[in-house]
Amino acid sequence: MSSPEISLTINGHPITVPAGTTILDAAAQLGIEIPVICYHPHLTANGLCRFCSVDGGGRVQLAACVTECANGMTIETHSEDVNRGRKTILELLASTINLDEAPEILDFLEEYGADTHRFPGAKRRTSPVYDDNPFYLRDYNQCINCWRCVQVCADDAQFTYALSFDGRGFETRIGTFMGEGMTNTTCVFCGQCVGACPTGALKPKRQALLEQGMNPDEIFFATRQKRRKKAMDAEE
Ligand code: SF4
Repeated sequence: MSSPEISLTINGHPITVPAGTTILDAAAQLGIEIPVICYHPHLTANGLCRFCSVDGGGRVQLAACVTECANGMTIETHSEDVNRGRKTILELLASTINLDEAPEILDFLEEYGADTHRFPGAKRRTSPVYDDNPFYLRDYNQCINCWRCVQVCADDAQFTYALSFDGRGFETRIGTFMGEGMTNTTCVFCGQCVGACPTGALKPKRQALLEQGMNPDEIFFATRQKRRKKAMDAEE
């Protein structure tokens, strides 16, 4: 049995979609691009960052990535209120997190005319940089808590569950069970979390060393030396 059809209007354009279609996907069918930050097309949407919020005529805006279309909806994806909301989200992110290596968000900052100094006294979310495994660094000073790494490590791809949320409210961070280093977790170093991270918070170690000015030979020998030392330490 085919699913019932839903008719709505997006930016003045009528469209009919199968029940269960999100506003984000319906808009895409009309060629309307709703901007996203935490959303990733291959991962479960959670509506965490609210950057994709649109005006549905109600009291609150609707996160387009998780809200299903309903009959008779009239959606505005880029109204003045919607754009102001997106600008504020960007300004809040910029006031607390280092976005220097988040190219898509940097583009949005420009596109929405965000004032990165709007909240000058804002508390920055700070974290040590975790260099606890041979493959990648975790710099949560650059983390926007989008949850992509957690999702891809869990039910959306890897079923490894090495990462999760830690803390509450402003102190919420991505972490490991009991704060263990990655080599003491269930991590299999598949690299999927690094690939899904939109901000540079997760970075391959080789890339970090290249950025520090080391050439590939130096990286190879430095890594080999480190491995030898570790093996010798283990033998003692
Ligand atoms: S580490 Fe990257 S992928 Fe994980 S929550 Fe932070 S920004 Fe998102």
